[in-house]
Amino acid sequence: MSAQIIEYKTVIAGERMSASDGATMPIINPANGTVIARAPKCGSNEVNLAVAAALKAAPEWASKTVGERSKVLLKLSQLIMANLNELARLETMEHGSPIRKTMNFDVPLCAEQLEYFAGVGRALTGETLPVGPWCTSMTIREPLGVVGLITPWNFPALMVVWKLGAALITGNTVVVKPPSITPLTTIRLAELALEAGAPPGVVNVVTGPGETVGEALVQHPDVTKIGFTGDTVTGKRIMSLASSSVKQVGLELGGKNAFIVLADADVDSAVEGAVFGAFFNTGQVCAAASRFYIHESLYDRFTEKFVEASSHLKYGDPMNMETVLGPVAYAAHRDKIEGYIERAKKAGADLLLGGERPDTPDTKDGFFVAPTVFGSCSNDMEIMRDEIFGPVIALCKFKTNEEAVALTNDTKYGLSASVWTKDLEN
Ligand code: NAD
Repeated sequence: MSAQIIEYKTVIAGERMSASDGATMPIINPANGTVIARAPKCGSNEVNLAVAAALKAAPEWASKTVGERSKVLLKLSQLIMANLNELARLETMEHGSPIRKTMNFDVPLCAEQLEYFAGVGRALTGETLPVGPWCTSMTIREPLGVVGLITPWNFPALMVVWKLGAALITGNTVVVKPPSITPLTTIRLAELALEAGAPPGVVNVVTGPGETVGEALVQHPDVTKIGFTGDTVTGKRIMSLASSSVKQVGLELGGKNAFIVLADADVDSAVEGAVFGAFFNTGQVCAAASRFYIHESLYDRFTEKFVEASSHLKYGDPMNMETVLGPVAYAAHRDKIEGYIERAKKAGADLLLGGERPDTPDTKDGFFVAPTVFGSCSNDMEIMRDEIFGPVIALCKFKTNEEAVALTNDTKYGLSASVWTKDLEN
């Protein structure tokens, strides 16, 4: 039986739209490699239409009270929960994230975040400044106008909502550019925003490749700010393109996050934290624990328990409620991760778990990478230095806390780190 392929339209100026040249792109379910839908492959024409619609809608949206905008956000939050099943299934199908996660984490958190923005917007104030008795000096917060939101695929809905909530409550209109591989939840969110009472043109979506649609949005003269989350290389490119029109740019970029286990740590707690930090969302998290520094006195004990716990993680069909680890989001990403694994083996890292492509009935056609752990790593190895963005972990020993700090700081990234100890003085 061949599955039905749904043709999606995007949302521009409150209308459902295809690309003007009719181009579409396939949306592939990474759990089994099948095409589940097609989405418009927009170009600069649709970017121009979307920005024009957002520009037209901006004065009216900006003139609403925060209370009025807040009500739209709260309604959208309610509609998201009313459509929980549909949104969770859609995200699982386009991204591969297990249904137990999309149902219990991603979609409910989208709704909660909109409640947060609806509330926090009411608390934003300006300031008065004591310049002197001869003048009254004050700051007033004003909307920027049209904001471009460029999002990554690792949490398709949540990454949109974090940006959307902040932009809308402060009176801006938006053009969202979701990733080519996971645009469906974004389109659905824009439809729900209309239903929630956002006037046409306040939320627009342009689906299509970053190099064309994304760059057109970044360079558009009527876009005042770009909010971007994604790869560091892309962030640099966006920053440089935005400079031609001196746009504001907000960048949230990659990480290679250290997980440091000190000599006095509770090993069982550290292992529990490590399994979650390393494998949540199949390791496709900017703040994922990825390079581990473990004090030599408990390296063997930690490693044994971590490998044992990781070996029991259930991976496979993400639509199964028991599944904890889904596939990675697309085939080329799986191939890239496998390249890292092969080079780590050649570089002399000690493969302790995984490292092979899974081949069970429910994984053989999907883009799966088994939880993979390398021991005996050193800081000069590629797997300790590059963001892999998958379920691949590198373990390294250290002797002193000073050495752990130096190893942690020896990175081109800055994002997050965690320290496991029973003594806060550490
Ligand atoms: P990516 O940079 O490849 O793509 C992100 C978005 O940018 C996509 O919508 C893409 O189409 C678009 N894009 C690509 N090239 C572009 C260009 N030249 N001009 C304009 N837009 C362009 O990143 P990704 O692979 O989707 O996401 C993974 C990355 O995101 C990882 O590095 C991860 O660490 C990072 N990330 C960071 C955070 C954070 O909060 N710091 C959160 C999530 C993900």
